[in-house]
Amino acid sequence: SEQNVENERRYKFIVVGDMGAGKTSIIQRYTNDVFSNSYKATIGVDFFMKDLTRENETVKLQLWDIAGQEMFRHMTRVYYKDSIGALLVFDVDSRSSFEVINEWKKDIDEKVRTNTNSPIPVILCANKIDLIDEESSWNKTKKEMDTICEEQGYIGWFETSAKTGQNVSESVEFLLDYILKNN
Ligand code: GDP
Ligand code: MG
Repeated sequence: SEQNVENERRYKFIVVGDMGAGKTSIIQRYTNDVFSNSYKATIGVDFFMKDLTRENETVKLQLWDIAGQEMFRHMTRVYYKDSIGALLVFDVDSRSSFEVINEWKKDIDEKVRTNTNSPIPVILCANKIDLIDEESSWNKTKKEMDTICEEQGYIGWFETSAKTGQNVSESVEFLLDYILKNN
């Protein structure tokens, strides 16, 4: 019934970042607990659901995925509409995907606002951390990452791996719990 739909808590999160960063993989790991090595490049917008329990209530989380529009580093307002949180994904093995995170952040801030007209909370996922060893190019210290979060306005950051599952649910649920706590 309409009543039930109204009582249901549905939250829309958007997942942005450059092509190949691992957006689809993070969503698939989180919602279906799977990982694939094959590059999926289905064009369009899609969303995936996950039910969670918070304070004895079901929370329906919608994760919106994009494909094909990433090269422009901006999305239409329609895509962002009604989203209350965002995951910004970059690939720790790709300098360029890291260098453009501020462009994505700017696009989010310009196109969607909370109902009190603030920027929506964004979490940064330093993805593919499984590829990194000591000799590798990913050399950001925790302190540097914390500074970037402060300067660019992310609520936090995680080293994630869609491949191993490291910190995937932690990132999504950190974002959710941040929103629930601050509403
Ligand atoms: P998207 O374009 O941002 O949606 O990126 P995809 O999710 O399609 O991932 C691009 C490629 O990176 C695919 O070949 C994935 O298998 C791979 N990939 C994604 N996440 C990870 C990860 O955490 N570790 C590793 N090693 N590969 C990943
Ligand atoms: Mg994708």
